[in-house]
Amino acid sequence: MEPFRVHILGCGSALPTLKHNASSQVVEIREKLFMIDCGEGTQMQLRKSKIRFTKISCVFISHLHGDHCFGLIGMISTFGMLGRTATLRVYGPKELGPVLDSQIKTFCQGLEFSVEFHAVDTTKKTVIYEDRSLTVESIPLKHRMPTCGYLFREKPTLPHIKRDMIDFYHVPISQINNIKLGASWTTPDGDVIDNSRFVEPADAPRSYAYCSDTRYIPDLYKLIEGVDTLYHESTYASDNADRARKYHHSTARDAASVARDAHVGKLFLGHYSARYNDESVILKEAQEIFPNSYLTNEGMVFDV
Ligand SMILES: [Zn+2]
Ligand SMILES: [Zn+2]
Repeated sequence: MEPFRVHILGCGSALPTLKHNASSQVVEIREKLFMIDCGEGTQMQLRKSKIRFTKISCVFISHLHGDHCFGLIGMISTFGMLGRTATLRVYGPKELGPVLDSQIKTFCQGLEFSVEFHAVDTTKKTVIYEDRSLTVESIPLKHRMPTCGYLFREKPTLPHIKRDMIDFYHVPISQINNIKLGASWTTPDGDVIDNSRFVEPADAPRSYAYCSDTRYIPDLYKLIEGVDTLYHESTYASDNADRARKYHHSTARDAASVARDAHVGKLFLGHYSARYNDESVILKEAQEIFPNSYLTNEGMVFDV
């Protein structure tokens, strides 16, 4: 199965700590790398992770709080110094466009690659990126400013060929693609061999949803129903529920409720408040509602 995994570069929240970096992660799907959020310090985290800078084609920014985007201009500047020529696509709320433009004009004169900005409507779920193997959709979230999450979905792939059956019936190589697309095979004697003899079903397409930052949205589950893996912010545990409400963040209980209602496979927690020295309280609270919950940490890599 082709890789579909997530590299955690930062899973802290706004206040810097020695323990966590600001939000950023890289989604790796079949040789392609997509960054989600780019808090301060992201490029140092990239260095540590040994992810190849040049392979990042797109950056998706959830909202314009500094802990999600202060690292972007620094990273763009570094891409310039490293001699990047490939276009970098940046997706985010429309307010990011003029800010980025002005920063590039001020700090990155003579860039030899273009930065293409794509404004995302944070009020609705819509496909904002598509290529041969996947789509990315926006997920409207509720925070103190326009904010959206992102949903990465693999496209269905063609079935696997049963090599031994191909050999057995002497099917020529030139016909293999047709067989993958559903064709049957007629032998030289005129016998029709059904397509199902030659193929095994394709792997089920996988999906990953990123939801940070947001207050608890009781019907968010409808937008991410059945995703394999969900990252949902859990800035606090319920001991700080009033704070979560005030700053439009979620508790571990909220995150786990969304995961349970959406019937996701796995839940990953992050965006921890600096108030927690030990996040096991966050994990415990989530697992009481949704057992398949995990804490994220810098340097962690998980399969979707
Ligand atoms: Zn944040
Ligand atoms: Zn925020």
